[in-house]
Amino acid sequence: MTQQEKEELQHIIQTEIAALTDEIATIQTSLRPIKKDCSLDSIDHKMLKQDQNINIQRYEVAKQRLNRLKAAYLNIDNKEYGVCQECEEDINIERLKLIPESKYCVSCMNELGL
Ligand SMILES: [Zn+2]
Repeated sequence: MTQQEKEELQHIIQTEIAALTDEIATIQTSLRPIKKDCSLDSIDHKMLKQDQNINIQRYEVAKQRLNRLKAAYLNIDNKEYGVCQECEEDINIERLKLIPESKYCVSCMNELGL
C-alpha cells in the first residue's frame, strides 16, 4: 500500500466514522421508550414496537461497524492492516476503499462464508 493510498483510506475511515456517529445519534433519539398513549389502539402500538425493534437492530449494526472502523483507523499503520487474515495476501485497495475494516480478501470471505 502506498502512502497516498493509506492517506486516502484514513480520510475515508474518518468520513465513515463521522457519518456513523451522526446516524447513531439520530437512532438514539428515536429509541426513547414508547409512552403509553391512550389514543393509540393496540395495532398502532404494535407497529410502533416493530419500528422500535428495527431501530434497535440498526443501532447495534451501526455501533459494531463504528467499533470496527475505529479499530481499522488505529491499525492502519500496522503491517497487518490491509492483509488478508486467512491467506495473507494484500486485500484489493478498491475493496478497502469500500470497506476499510476488511480483514479478509474477497475470495477468502466467500470461502469462509462471511
Ligand atoms: Zn484471503
